[in-house]
Amino acid sequence: MEKEHVKCLIAGGGPAGYTAAIYASRSGLAPVLYEGMQPGGQLTTTTEVENYPGFENGIDGRALVDTMKAQAVRLGADIRTGTVSGADLSSRPFRLTVDGEKEIVAETLVIATGANAKYLGLPSEEKFKGMGVSACATCDGFFYRKKTVAVVGGGDTACEEATYLASICSKVYMIVRRDVLRASSAMQDRVRNTPNIEILWNCSTQEVLGDASGVTGVRLLRKDGEVFEIGVDGFFLAIGHHPNSELFSKWVNVNPDGYILTDGVSSRTNVEGVFAAGDVQDPYYRQAITAAASGCRAALDAEKFLISQNLI
Ligand code: NDP
Repeated sequence: MEKEHVKCLIAGGGPAGYTAAIYASRSGLAPVLYEGMQPGGQLTTTTEVENYPGFENGIDGRALVDTMKAQAVRLGADIRTGTVSGADLSSRPFRLTVDGEKEIVAETLVIATGANAKYLGLPSEEKFKGMGVSACATCDGFFYRKKTVAVVGGGDTACEEATYLASICSKVYMIVRRDVLRASSAMQDRVRNTPNIEILWNCSTQEVLGDASGVTGVRLLRKDGEVFEIGVDGFFLAIGHHPNSELFSKWVNVNPDGYILTDGVSSRTNVEGVFAAGDVQDPYYRQAITAAASGCRAALDAEKFLISQNLI
């Protein structure tokens, strides 16, 4: 198998990975970044990004990550198509496999493999992604000003997104599959105290309805067997995220949901020389800007580590 030795390997091409590559390049770590299966990450599934600082009039999600990538390349990062498919972090230097056919021997590893929002798996949901179906209220809520939307889920994220959307939209339905919310009592209180949120208990989504203009409604099935439709302009999923940490969780500590645990405000994992950045280690904020910031931390932490080992 082809073998290559690098000082800093970055797994994942999203805001966290690209930012790590920008900083690591400028620090002389000659980083190699493999973009993974979704180059650009979750931002590529959104349209307009209005909350990333520096872009007065907003920027298209794809354009934003493409610009980050171009900046990293200009500064000398080696950004490659391919997915880290195997990892042996039992000793340093670490041994990583790419696409099952190339071995990278890495002095440091930055895991920036992200997370994916969970979807219900309905074909109609897939059809209207980006046309009314979204998994990020903070990203897309603004486009539904004074409109009616639905949020699926009963956890803290769903409650938080519903109350956020309620401040923008005229009406928010919460579609909850049981007769209780999973969310903390504080979040439940916030929902109950928000007059324009209506909870539809014991309901599951049968179909997202729409036309050429996008989502127009949802068909729901209640546990008592009643099937009914509600009219909505936006359909937000808040049924959890799935961090892409499986490959590394044999070596690095993760929480019960699979998010990689880092040491305090640093990006350090329990394995010396392995750092985690972005949504793979962040169940809470999940914003492009927070992911980018943690990518910066990871590169600085990797640099410090390499200096401590006399490797740069
Ligand atoms: P959770 O796993 O806590 O909740 C997921 C919700 O979605 C549950 O209500 C679940 O229903 C529902 N759900 C799951 N699958 C489906 C499905 N197929 N159809 C319909 N409903 C479904 O995820 P969250 O993203 O809300 O939270 C993740 C973690 O982050 C939690 O630990 C949470 O406490 C934390 N968090 C904390 C915040 C805060 O403190 N401010 C803010 C946001 C998140 P059911 O209950 O029936 O399983």
